[in-house]
Amino acid sequence: MTLSERLFEEGKGILRLKPTWVPRAFCRPGKRIKLHPDDYYVLGLEKGGIDERWFASTTWAENGPGTPEDEGLSYVVSRDGKEKMLLRDVVAELKEKVIGDLWDKYHKWPMFSKFFDNAGPLPHHIHHMDKHAARVGAAGKPEMYFFPAQVNNHGGEFPFTFFGLNPECTKEEIKKCLEDFAKGDNRLLDYSQAYKIELDTGWDVPPGVLHAPASLCTYEPQFASDVYAMYQSVLYGGQCVSEDLLWKNCPEEEKGNFDYLMDVIDWDLNVDPDFKKHRFMRPVVQREDEKHKEEWICYKSKLACAKRLTVYPGQKVTVKDGAAYGMIMLQGHGTFGGQPIETPTLIRYGQLTDDEYFVSAEAAKKGVVIENPSGCDPIVMLKHFAENPDLDF
Ligand SMILES: [Zn+2]
Repeated sequence: MTLSERLFEEGKGILRLKPTWVPRAFCRPGKRIKLHPDDYYVLGLEKGGIDERWFASTTWAENGPGTPEDEGLSYVVSRDGKEKMLLRDVVAELKEKVIGDLWDKYHKWPMFSKFFDNAGPLPHHIHHMDKHAARVGAAGKPEMYFFPAQVNNHGGEFPFTFFGLNPECTKEEIKKCLEDFAKGDNRLLDYSQAYKIELDTGWDVPPGVLHAPASLCTYEPQFASDVYAMYQSVLYGGQCVSEDLLWKNCPEEEKGNFDYLMDVIDWDLNVDPDFKKHRFMRPVVQREDEKHKEEWICYKSKLACAKRLTVYPGQKVTVKDGAAYGMIMLQGHGTFGGQPIETPTLIRYGQLTDDEYFVSAEAAKKGVVIENPSGCDPIVMLKHFAENPDLDF
């Protein structure tokens, strides 16, 4: 048996994953992702603080020159912790067995999720649509947010998110902001509005929609792509954004062309007067009984989606899904397809955990038995999918 087959057999199609910590040079850690306080800068100041943990990732973190070749990639580890292999390579070797029909369509696992944990807000920025991303050899990037109460006992320095542009603003006004980017504060936020973030709810952000995310710890299921451009030059709090990020993922021949930057904006979606009505996501119950509850939490994109599963104290359930998924534990302990699940309080950089798994298409369809031995504490987990045939509303 090859290593990938052994890992698959050992977990009966459920792969144990090692925590994947990702530093970002331009971010400041919010310290809500359970990493030991001494370890947030463990990779050195040059790399920046760790403010992301990636889940079920086969996507490399694009962190500039000198980035390790496995940064951002999830490892599958054996129960004894002695053997490990990249999830990307396990999928490449076992194909349909791990990800089902998605193998034929993408020839890789096409999504990942993360906890994004920044102390302050991010600049108003944009992810390219397919047609613009294709010009730099990439795919468009839809992303979605969910703000779990379990990782948000405080909302950070600015718990409000700006989305889109005010319906009455003009293209001339926005183009002027972009032209003023390098001159100082380009005042792009003067033309947008912020929404107060409500815990345990989510938002859908299609490609081409401007957004300046709040400082909450955010669960973000997304299509595997890392294209973006920053359109706001000075942040709330005074941090400045370098001009090369305005032109990030812009084709060489369009650099300096502000009309191209304008074209990247999906104007109608941004100035939608019913923006909240169309983009806000409150959990939708998919199934519920006295033993458990399963809710859709991210469901407006066709390329990635997510659920929250709660198993009540003392209960044992079998949960089936139509497709492969990754999962991260938020609360409680017990067993998951025979493997231990728990929610550590503090994790050292490099330490193994039992809070994250990848469930193969085969195991998902067969059903995963989850047991909660606690007399009082529910098991709560988040499950991230690419396409899911059960998502039919
Ligand atoms: Zn974004």
